[in-house]
Amino acid sequence: MTEVLPPTGSAGPAAGITSVARPLPDQIPENAPEHCPGVESDAAGHANACQGCPNQNHCQTAPKGPDPDLPIIRERMKCINSKILILSGKGGVGKSTFTSQLAWACASDHATQTAVLDIDVCGPSIPTILGLRNQYVHASSSGWTPAFVSDNLSCMSVEFLLPSSETAIIWRGPKKNGLIKQFLKDVDWTGGMDELTSDKCLIDYLLVDTPPGTTDEHLSIVGFLRESGIDGAVIITTPQEVSLQDVRKEISFCNKMHVPIIGVVENMAGFVCPACHTRSDIFYPSTGGAQALCDELGLTFLGSVPIDPRIARCCDVGESFVEEYPESPASEAYLSIIAKIKERVAQKGT
Ligand code: ADP
Repeated sequence: MTEVLPPTGSAGPAAGITSVARPLPDQIPENAPEHCPGVESDAAGHANACQGCPNQNHCQTAPKGPDPDLPIIRERMKCINSKILILSGKGGVGKSTFTSQLAWACASDHATQTAVLDIDVCGPSIPTILGLRNQYVHASSSGWTPAFVSDNLSCMSVEFLLPSSETAIIWRGPKKNGLIKQFLKDVDWTGGMDELTSDKCLIDYLLVDTPPGTTDEHLSIVGFLRESGIDGAVIITTPQEVSLQDVRKEISFCNKMHVPIIGVVENMAGFVCPACHTRSDIFYPSTGGAQALCDELGLTFLGSVPIDPRIARCCDVGESFVEEYPESPASEAYLSIIAKIKERVAQKGT
């Protein structure tokens, strides 16, 4: 199992930085079985997975009660106005790319503050796309300080805790659960801004980039944020039926967990050859694409983003595509979709 340790040696923090955050030892024993329900769970010591576990006796007898961390998370989340989950059924459909474009577009309004939380624990790509490689998280008396892309755009990712971006994380569910909880509890999103007062939101948007599918990480984030409230989920797919099939599972997950669905974005929808201007459907929408799925299920279709190779290039070098190529059809699509998302979250409470 790969341990997350503070950076050391040449890959370590810059000279002069003495305080680097590291995950606290969590309450999941190293020798826990694969489906350990977590020592705080009501099922601890009693679940099928607990049979034969060396900690079973301790878990059965340990006092249980409401998770004492939930009020701490609720207090932390008071500084955040809108919390949006970005979901996809499959990997590689452009979810992290979309999260980043959404973040940059939100942050282009300098009067607002945007934060990105990357909980794709096993494949964090947000730091590269936001141009934040080789960053480390610093601990202060108020918590973990996120990395800043600009004055009004910050990010927290598991990658900032790894000794190198090549380090693989092989964690069981409960341990990932512990890290996500720690992100929600310990990250000081205000980054030392004004003193927080209980009725003042300092962060306008928290965008949570999730792993593909419906995983332990999804259950964790939805569970931990239940009391603070999630504004909604944006689901990313390609037009292909194999991707849409997994989107149905994502929709079912949101419905079961009572997470409102803001809408569905269709990414990689067609490619226009720059030489001959012929359009090709690389991921052919054999069943009508995301629009047909939304019509069938009564969901909001937020729009389609075409394939543009410059998007991939911008992601690799950590640049904002919507700022670099504002006139491109893909940027126009992103901005139209993002305007709908902002409009939808602005409606809350009205
Ligand atoms: P996911 O988060 O769903 O796994 P990524 O955001 O990492 O997917 O995107 C997968 C790859 O596709 C990346 O190389 C990204 O740059 C590229 N990509 C995403 N959207 C587009 C697009 N509309 N046109 C071209 N490339 C894209």
